[in-house]
Amino acid sequence: MNDYEYDLITIGAGGGAYPAAFQLARTGQRVLMLDPKGVMSGNCLAEGCVPSKAIREGAELYRGVRRMPYFRTEAPPDYRSMVAFKDSVQQVRYQQHDQELASLGDRIRLIDGIATLLDPHTVAFETKSEVRTVTAKYILLASGSDISIPPITGIEHCVTSRDLFAVSPTVTELPAKLAVIGGGYIGLEVATMWHALGVDVTVFEVANQLLPGMDPGFAKLVAEGLAQGIGVELGAEVTEIDDRHRVKYSKLGKSLLFEADLVLLATGRHPVLPLGAEALGLLDERGRLVVGPGGTTKERSIFAAGDITGTQMLFHAATRESLAVAHNILAGRTVDRVDPQTIPATIFTFPEAAWVGSTRADLATRGIETVEVAAPFDHEARTQILNEPYGEVRLFGEARSGRLLGAWVVGKEAGQLIGELATAIALGATIADVASVADQHPLAHEAISRAARTLV
Ligand code: ADP
Repeated sequence: MNDYEYDLITIGAGGGAYPAAFQLARTGQRVLMLDPKGVMSGNCLAEGCVPSKAIREGAELYRGVRRMPYFRTEAPPDYRSMVAFKDSVQQVRYQQHDQELASLGDRIRLIDGIATLLDPHTVAFETKSEVRTVTAKYILLASGSDISIPPITGIEHCVTSRDLFAVSPTVTELPAKLAVIGGGYIGLEVATMWHALGVDVTVFEVANQLLPGMDPGFAKLVAEGLAQGIGVELGAEVTEIDDRHRVKYSKLGKSLLFEADLVLLATGRHPVLPLGAEALGLLDERGRLVVGPGGTTKERSIFAAGDITGTQMLFHAATRESLAVAHNILAGRTVDRVDPQTIPATIFTFPEAAWVGSTRADLATRGIETVEVAAPFDHEARTQILNEPYGEVRLFGEARSGRLLGAWVVGKEAGQLIGELATAIALGATIADVASVADQHPLAHEAISRAARTLV
């Protein structure tokens, strides 16, 4: 007999939590979601992917108009109005989520509480008015990630992506001169979108390449395509920021100073573990959550999905992992494992940059002999029509079988194109299979089959 109050409690109500919560509620199970935000969708909607793209697409439209020789538009968009529009997109999506939640009736509850794990079936949560303890047959850890704050003197003088993208953000005007600390995806997305809106931007990166940790060939292609006029300081370690937004940094043994009007901190994100995870022995010796295939943990009743796993911190990875957890709970065993090699990712910079699976360098470390083909974008009707020819599609396959194992796309509509390639990888396609697809003319997708056809 099951005398738990709930079948499932989710810690968090973002993309790692609610797909599983909804799936179980739809099958008649009793579900409780806990999140101090008191609303669904987590950080993606609160301050991440959705609001940043609401601004970014505005910048892209403005760029598009300026790129064309037949428009005469020099007046930059009104940034306050862009922010107001971004806010309205967030509000619409919150309303939509409220309706989705209401449609499931009393099978599912969302309480704005911060949760602590007490034992494999018990969670304590604290709201503004009370502290309560609840039990469940299963617990899903989906408390996401948070902005990493490095120990730099004067860090409080920086803004973060939260100050730019939260509903009613603190930053509603563009600075004349922006310093970005961190050359990862968040730093470069803001750098390129604000540069497109007329801001003078310089990026400071301590590593010797932008997008540290990514394939050097891919990072080089993105870096070379960055708009002329974005300053990039590599090997630059920021040591101090003062209250006048002056950035002190050291490079090649020299101590230097850069004067900005605003400083954006974009040095990464880290998983947020709920209290109690360590005491339950769910972490490894380095303090990271140990997550097995299908979101399993060291406790049979506890699962994990999303950014908390520290692997692919992407909303669509979180939702897919969350669904796998639901399937595995319903089946009573691990029937659904998410293959990270099939999950695409896009950096919404100008140029846009996307990838899926493995590159030649990754495959070499696994001892796989690789075949590599590419098609530059400047041959495509689509990129010529849009007057944005920079970029390429590059495919990586296993030489023996021809099986497609990875791809990157840099340039216009890269994020759209990578979806087709992710599907191909997930379905086990070979490069010859990809070559046989009649990618539509005159769309950028044609570069995919054109790259594949260089082989067959
Ligand atoms: P993911 O996409 O992995 O679900 P998100 O960051 O979108 O990640 O969502 C995680 C959510 O978890 C956030 O809304 C955050 O407020 C919430 N959260 C973080 N810590 C706790 C906690 N201890 N208890 C309940 N919710 C939490």
